[in-house]
Amino acid sequence: MQKKSKKLNIGEGKISGALSIFFSLISLGAVACFLFPEYLTTQDFRINYPLEVFRWLVFACLVFSFVFALLSFLLSKSIKMASLGMFISALAILLGGAGIEIKEFEQSLFSISLDWMLLEILVFSIVFIPIELFLPKRPEQTKFHPEWKTDLVYLFKAQLLIQYTAVAVKQPAELFFSGIGTEALQNSISSLPFMLQLFLAMFVADLFQYWIHRLFHGNSFLWRFHSIHHSIKYVDWISGSRLHLVDIFITRSISYIPLYILGFATDVFYVYVVFVSVQAVMAHANTSISFGFLKYCLVTPQYHHWHHSKDSKTHNKNFAIHFPFIDKLFGTYYLPNHEWPHEMGLINESFPSGYFRQQIYPFTHDPKSAQPNNPSTR
Ligand SMILES: [Zn+2]
Ligand SMILES: [Zn+2]
Repeated sequence: MQKKSKKLNIGEGKISGALSIFFSLISLGAVACFLFPEYLTTQDFRINYPLEVFRWLVFACLVFSFVFALLSFLLSKSIKMASLGMFISALAILLGGAGIEIKEFEQSLFSISLDWMLLEILVFSIVFIPIELFLPKRPEQTKFHPEWKTDLVYLFKAQLLIQYTAVAVKQPAELFFSGIGTEALQNSISSLPFMLQLFLAMFVADLFQYWIHRLFHGNSFLWRFHSIHHSIKYVDWISGSRLHLVDIFITRSISYIPLYILGFATDVFYVYVVFVSVQAVMAHANTSISFGFLKYCLVTPQYHHWHHSKDSKTHNKNFAIHFPFIDKLFGTYYLPNHEWPHEMGLINESFPSGYFRQQIYPFTHDPKSAQPNNPSTR
């Protein structure tokens, strides 16, 4: 049954209550990273961010959590949310707070990227929530559509597993393409200026991504997995993470092959990984921000929203994730002046609701012909 969409109103104390809980959870998560770095942090990224900045962020989040809890106490008739925010923050402080020291540790074999997830969620929320709130393309589109909780799980999972879906996937490329005699080429590329390397990395990765993306659309078995991404009806910065793990692994592995073969510098690779996340989130955002001339140079929301269009006349367009000119090159470019798609989502395919069911479903069913027991309400 379709659940009723909810809207949060300013002045009821619910927004401040939710913000208090949000900041308290970030603080608690960050303290947990300090307590168990071997299991909860990303080895490859740890060296790239200054610890002191992380500490200040914990402190700021704790302060914000208490301020918003206080505001919620004053505005709301219910003290539930504010109390929960305060309780979680107090727990974070009891466990060590911003001043917590890190013990000596050895990296465990398996770990998740909670540090990366917290930073990304914090930065993305601060940037994209106000953008979608104050400059929306579709103001009527609610955040609390029937699948928003599932999309949150996708968002958290995508960030938590970043070292497996973005960093470690270059290992297949290393395995197959090491020792093929490209050292001279690699040396000349890694000595190019940083920005030029970054542009080249984006270009070749997007070129490979383009063709694997087209294959995911053209091959009926691969489409089972990729159609999950196209099942998004309310495209926004959160829902853009709705991707099947098979889709992520294959697409990322293929995109990183050229980055490895061509030997881009390590810092270029990491900046590229960050850039991919930011542009992917931006491309899905529900925002009317005009990018001016830039919209012809870089993939923007209007451009990528057309890729999600429900109208079959505009299917199979705009496969690129960085540069629209790649679609131009291969005849799949579509960007009508100021028009946006009216509706997004799928026509014939259906999926069950919930993250785990959606991950298993394409292995056993063709979403095109099957009718799931618990159909998604998109
Ligand atoms: Zn697609
Ligand atoms: Zn998309």
